[in-house]
Amino acid sequence: MTLLIKSIKDIKDVIAKSERPLGLVPTMGSLHEGHISLIKAAKNDCKTTIVYVFVNPLQFGPNEDFDQYPRDLEKDLEICKQNNIDIVFAPEVSEIYPNLEDSKKNPIHPPKELTDILCGKTRIDHFSGVATVIKKFFEIIEPDFTYFGEKDLQQFYVIKWLVEKFNLPIKIKSCPTIRESTGLAYSSRNRYLTPEGKIVAASLYKALKLAKENTRSGIFSVNKSVLESLIFLSHFQEIKVEYFDARNKANLEKVSEDAKHNFYYLIAAKINNVRLIDNIEIT
Ligand code: AMP
Repeated sequence: MTLLIKSIKDIKDVIAKSERPLGLVPTMGSLHEGHISLIKAAKNDCKTTIVYVFVNPLQFGPNEDFDQYPRDLEKDLEICKQNNIDIVFAPEVSEIYPNLEDSKKNPIHPPKELTDILCGKTRIDHFSGVATVIKKFFEIIEPDFTYFGEKDLQQFYVIKWLVEKFNLPIKIKSCPTIRESTGLAYSSRNRYLTPEGKIVAASLYKALKLAKENTRSGIFSVNKSVLESLIFLSHFQEIKVEYFDARNKANLEKVSEDAKHNFYYLIAAKINNVRLIDNIEIT
């Protein structure tokens, strides 16, 4: 049986009676195969699994898609039931932020080295908003394990920082990116794409794979590999690349020109105004 819980008091009561280890899968809902892979990983490790569904206003900029973000709690519940999830926690914004304006003024600030790069360059307060909401949910639920997707790689590094910074007794597990057969990473925002847009969007992963092959071949430097991928992407007028970058695995710092492994290529791009991100590891 899957319980739907909306209040902090009720979730705390249920957790007090639940078996541990307790696994938490944080989501913004509109669940897809990517989320389901996190759910399965949690179910595999934990006696009790909680999926939270919360579209966090603090992580959306003023001109972003907070209002339009797809919400379908009924369908999410159905997916959770099919996957034998014990508890779905879906609080209202006012439950998590009794004073939203005050929370907006006083978020948690992860270090600039993590937030002023990649997505943080255009999504200015995004990672402060992410860190703030995740800390709240960690404190409410006190999970033993929590599950995050590698697709949102920069977010994963921010969560790692958060857990270390506040000495939270939580083990973070990273889960590989789940893709459609075309290579397109599943994302809640894919539903904004037209069928043609989806085909074009699959080129983002092709560009990442191309960079990986070029680097692996040993002929191309990191910069040249990035350039080749940007040239490939420039053939699609629907794609506007925001960044295509190479960052090391240890702390997302820039990598040297001759790097051959232990880093990621990361991309953010808009396809007909739908912003998507993806990355590939160079092992
Ligand atoms: P979101 O609902 O977009 O905030 O995502 C919730 C969690 O699902 C995050 O940890 C994401 O990294 C993860 N996630 C989203 N898409 C995928 C995917 N295609 N494969 C694996 N994990 C994903």
